[in-house]
Amino acid sequence: MKKVLALALSTLVAGGAFAQSFPSKPITIVVPFAAGGPTDLVARQLAEAMRGPLGGATIVVENAAGAGGTIGATKVARAQPDGYTLLVWHIGMASTASLYRRLQFKALEDFEYLGMINDVPMTLLGSPKLPANTYRDFENYIRANGGKLNLAHAGLGSTSHLCGLMWQSAVKLDKSMTTIAYRGTAPAMNDLIGGQVDVMCDQTTNTTSQIEAGRVKAFAVTTAKPLSGHKLLKDYPSLQEMGLKDFNLTIWHGMYAPKGTPAEVTKKLNDALQVALKDPDFIQKQAALGAMVVTDNRVSPAGHKAFVADQITRLKTVIEAAGQFAD
Ligand code: ASP
Repeated sequence: MKKVLALALSTLVAGGAFAQSFPSKPITIVVPFAAGGPTDLVARQLAEAMRGPLGGATIVVENAAGAGGTIGATKVARAQPDGYTLLVWHIGMASTASLYRRLQFKALEDFEYLGMINDVPMTLLGSPKLPANTYRDFENYIRANGGKLNLAHAGLGSTSHLCGLMWQSAVKLDKSMTTIAYRGTAPAMNDLIGGQVDVMCDQTTNTTSQIEAGRVKAFAVTTAKPLSGHKLLKDYPSLQEMGLKDFNLTIWHGMYAPKGTPAEVTKKLNDALQVALKDPDFIQKQAALGAMVVTDNRVSPAGHKAFVADQITRLKTVIEAAGQFAD
């Protein structure tokens, strides 16, 4: 008995010492999509903003892409719960619960929630080769040619897939577009610019600079109202304004650690995240790309988890209504 007690005590002391010295080696943020895309961009900007609050720690971003983000998420769920392997993922944390029949992780059971990062609108885009220039022309063109066109996305569970299929379902196309899955919307964007694919819906964090440079055509934003505060995106109508009643899709990103990461470590990570979310440079970089850094109680682990639990329920209804998501 004495031995057991002594062992438990020494583990506690070692755990406390471990947490105190955290971080003492590089931290890896796993991004479950290709490098250069919108999730990757958020993670890299955040890594830069969290470095100072974590005592100048080295934070590296690793891209573990595939299967709509679920490969990277599985990797983090199974990683050593020591705070050195983290996940930055988006709404897929909630949508995949309804989209996949079998997942290797449970969203609400296999992670420590560290806090939400941002809310991000999406934009409906076409390749520069599409003959349409306004949303109305775009919708009519897709209606007439849907069966011959391709929709690019980042896999089942990606925002581009969710948004693209929600839009097709909302406009009730007779013939839906052929969907083409990529490992992230960075490579998908390259093919959209090159005209190898025709349509994509993606986060403003990926699309704003391409729209500004005239490399793609933008037709609408997915928020309920137009983005009147943004110097470029304010010029595009919302899908609701264009007659798609109730269409309202804003996605979000959050940060996670494997279940079992010591509470002292998750506290340090959440503290650093909260400092980063108030960093004017981070806020400004995000705003320039149409993203809003979270300021409400979702920045706390409990608020974050409650929000994701609610999103799982809401998205189930949306996904069932869109009805075309078989894996
Ligand atoms: N925007 C992508 C998606 O559709 C993912 C990415 O490449 O960040 O989910």
